[in-house]
Amino acid sequence: MAIDRTGASALVRSVPTGLLIDGRFTDAADGATFDVFNPATEEHLATLASAGENDAREALDVACRVQGDWARTPARHRSEILRRAFALVHERAEDFATLMTLEMGKPLAEARGEVTYGAEYLRWFAEEAVRDHGRFDAAPEGGLRMLTRRKPVGPCLLITPWNFPLAMATRKIAPAVAAGCTMILKPADLTPLTSYFFAQTMMDAGLPAGVLAVLPGADPAAVSAPLLADDRLRKVSFTGSTRVGKLLLRQAADGVLRTSMELGGNAPFIVFDDADIDAAVEGAMAAKMRNIGEACTAANRFIVHESVAGRFAALFAERMNTVRLGDGLEPGVTCGPLVSRQARDRVAELVDDAVGRGAKALTGGSPVPGPGWFYPPTVLVDVPACARVLTEEIFGPVAPIITFRDEEEALALANDTEYGLASYVFTADASRMYRMADGLDFGLMGFNAGVISNAAAPFGGVKQSGLGREGGAEGLDEYTSVQYIGVADPYA
Ligand code: NAD
Repeated sequence: MAIDRTGASALVRSVPTGLLIDGRFTDAADGATFDVFNPATEEHLATLASAGENDAREALDVACRVQGDWARTPARHRSEILRRAFALVHERAEDFATLMTLEMGKPLAEARGEVTYGAEYLRWFAEEAVRDHGRFDAAPEGGLRMLTRRKPVGPCLLITPWNFPLAMATRKIAPAVAAGCTMILKPADLTPLTSYFFAQTMMDAGLPAGVLAVLPGADPAAVSAPLLADDRLRKVSFTGSTRVGKLLLRQAADGVLRTSMELGGNAPFIVFDDADIDAAVEGAMAAKMRNIGEACTAANRFIVHESVAGRFAALFAERMNTVRLGDGLEPGVTCGPLVSRQARDRVAELVDDAVGRGAKALTGGSPVPGPGWFYPPTVLVDVPACARVLTEEIFGPVAPIITFRDEEEALALANDTEYGLASYVFTADASRMYRMADGLDFGLMGFNAGVISNAAAPFGGVKQSGLGREGGAEGLDEYTSVQYIGVADPYA
């Protein structure tokens, strides 16, 4: 089917271009704007208002004004807003998918997958909202009855990245709504259109004015710094790079803010000699190529037993060669462009560094001419330990393969990183799964599975991959504080 470019342009024009403050889309206080581009064509998509310090303060004034009433709404009411939003996102699925492909580059089929995945957080937290139980106990030594309950933490700053423009927003907004928190969303400046389209959808689902503000902009610190310095803000939830996460943690320390940090990763993908190699190659394709390799859970280092490494590498390269690179709106395309020129150049730099140190590219290995920021699927073998591609987050379709001799060495190689988000293990030995789970210093582990994210599961990392969990029952805890009430025992 041919691409409906006119329909896509009309869709982009229908998305609000102003900052969302107090239920209205408005210009920035200083009139500043910024531009959004299509990474597959380098074409200009839209010009939007760029938020600054005054807009941030105004949004926080509104959030504080409505926080009390919002926290007192019955949980069922907030749950039903989320359930309606879930249905509306599905009704508008094709528009959400098209916007994500246009501004971020992922193939339409994957963008549709993100709509389903992202919407699940709305449904999951609609269900969790009404199951936020407290406790009633008696003090063990008598004299007190003890009540514990959960309260919303209060106004939150939510900062999201560009790689999953819908899902990273629903993963924060849904639990915040379930808990009764007000929110200021600062989406990535590369992908604000999806965020606005989602904010409009939340309002159509019944979210009251002022509960959610959306403040994109060319200067993210102009929004975050004044908010983090204002003691009315109670929480920051961030998904993005470890570098920016550390910066925000330092700023959050002054106000002793609650923080949730979903940061970078350097996921090991371990293949043992007893693994089903065909299944491992399919798992590798999913763990590496989902989202053009631009995922914090993307397999970054393939650690393969020396006796099967040659076969695995050959089959993996063969599968990578079947990938069709192109504009994600084109039918049949399975890998889009990287998100920007800088992102593409950085991936090329990592591959050049590895090859310069002796690695060999079985397939791919150099950028594809534009327009668009394309880098082809690449498999690297003979990668020396000093290559940057093994220690830095690649964020692109590049798979370096290294080998190991025994389980102990596989674990040591896998854990040799400051990151600790996702890990993958392929083996036919179930008892080895438990040993690897014990030994791997990672918040997530896929066992014979290349994609494991799910709204019902707690997602998050250890070490420099972050703090806190999103999704699952744990996801709601991040937006609530426990209050304990000690009641004098009537019989004491
Ligand atoms: P980034 O850290 O550059 O940007 C993330 C967000 O932070 C964007 O909204 C950006 O505008 C904002 N930001 C940038 N500088 C800021 C500053 N000084 N103050 C306040 N906000 C600032 O990361 P990115 O390049 O957009 O995203 C890629 C990174 O995100 C990768 O490292 C990836 O691993 C990580 N990521 C993690 C998860 C996870 O759940 N752990 C999920 C997706 C992406």
